[in-house]
Amino acid sequence: MSNNVESTLKPLFEEINNLKPQFIERLTKAVAIPSVSGDESLRPKVVEMAHFLKQELTNLGAQDIQLKPLGKQPPPVSTEGLELPPIVLARFGSDPAKKTVLVYGHYDVQPALLEDGWHSDPFTLVEKDSKLFGRGSTDDKGPVMGWLNSIHAHNKLGLELPVNLVCCFEGMEESGSLGLDELIAREANAYFKGVDTVCISDNYWLGTKKPVLTYGLRGCNYYQIIVNGPGADLHSGIFGGVIHEPMTDLIKVMGQLVDVDGTINIPGVNEMVAPLTEEESKLYDPIEFDVDELNLASGSKTAIYQDKKDILMHRWRYPSLSLHGIEGAFSAGGAKTVIPAKVSGKFSIRTVPDMDSDKLTQYVIDFVNKRFAELKSPNTLKCELIHDGNYWKSDPFNESFTAAAKATKLVWNIDPDFTREGGSIPITITFEEQLKTNVLLLPMGKGDDGAHSINEKLDVANYIEGVKTLSAYLHYYANA
Ligand SMILES: [Zn+2]
Repeated sequence: MSNNVESTLKPLFEEINNLKPQFIERLTKAVAIPSVSGDESLRPKVVEMAHFLKQELTNLGAQDIQLKPLGKQPPPVSTEGLELPPIVLARFGSDPAKKTVLVYGHYDVQPALLEDGWHSDPFTLVEKDSKLFGRGSTDDKGPVMGWLNSIHAHNKLGLELPVNLVCCFEGMEESGSLGLDELIAREANAYFKGVDTVCISDNYWLGTKKPVLTYGLRGCNYYQIIVNGPGADLHSGIFGGVIHEPMTDLIKVMGQLVDVDGTINIPGVNEMVAPLTEEESKLYDPIEFDVDELNLASGSKTAIYQDKKDILMHRWRYPSLSLHGIEGAFSAGGAKTVIPAKVSGKFSIRTVPDMDSDKLTQYVIDFVNKRFAELKSPNTLKCELIHDGNYWKSDPFNESFTAAAKATKLVWNIDPDFTREGGSIPITITFEEQLKTNVLLLPMGKGDDGAHSINEKLDVANYIEGVKTLSAYLHYYANA
């Protein structure tokens, strides 16, 4: 079977090489539309980008193309009645004998201005040193065009797609994916009915040398502790030493949440973490990463761990607690002698399997209340959850990951590293829960692409080999 797949892919890969100029042109056109979702004045451009996709999909022979309206953008919004950009849906094929793959990507981008420090206009794709510079080149217009390119190559060759392909392209990803959860829920048994698996290409290799497949993301529970004291801000010359100060209480309590070595001191939290299996531990051995990369990324030599495995596990599979700030505290320059009357300490916990969000919140609140009671302070304290987002972990040995691993090996001639990420991509969980299927994160770009920052780029090799990888994935998955 596998041999069959490879003999099909050989001419397809040649066709992809031949079409390279057209693929770069497609990305050039996409980057030229400044579809910045966070800038209300550019909303028409985001909508224009949706129409650009519709035209491309039409040219490629897609069926049932729909621009799904999402209604008005909820407040806070400065432009009254501002409409959300539509979700672009399209399908290629509906053969009941074939598996159905849903591919997700986003067509909006982060803001970018030449004066931020770009070497060239961010909305003009520039090829330099075998890299394609431009806003959205890697996040996420490159991968979205990657799917279109794959279909283009199949069409050119007269080769049938091995699966039914459902496209779901979003225009608000960089602005909280407003409206997307509801759309997925609405379409779960309609447009998305029969989807066997979901493939998202919207993250990056860990480093710059080895391709990766991503099977996990941490969640995040965000908390605040509000301490209330005197009726108004006071002067330390008059009240210092004679009253219980809210800030002193808060710092005493916050200071006990976590140790300087990252250990979370809240009882019950570490006990909820899924034990490390030998199989999982083995996945970390081949990963290309070292402490220098962490130092480079943090711009310092402040690492808690020096060992690759320790660093990655503490970023990906163990929880962490970070103190973020104190609202109401004096924070300007100078030496103001104020005693703040009310302060709110903010901190968050990155969560991992098998932590339960409600239980975690209870442990946090109990711990904070207990520590505060020990202070015997007449001030009042309230600890609360501001928001939570769940973690995600898939089975890196399932059919979809196995197909992606074969595809990567064939194209890059190396086994991919299996990675997780310390941050979150909430849409991953929504797809899994609503469509009752699994999700694969199959990144195209490298770790140094600079998504969200100046001089964002995508290597030409990653773009073109990426199209091959996405294509090969569909063929291996179809035959799995
Ligand atoms: Zn993205």
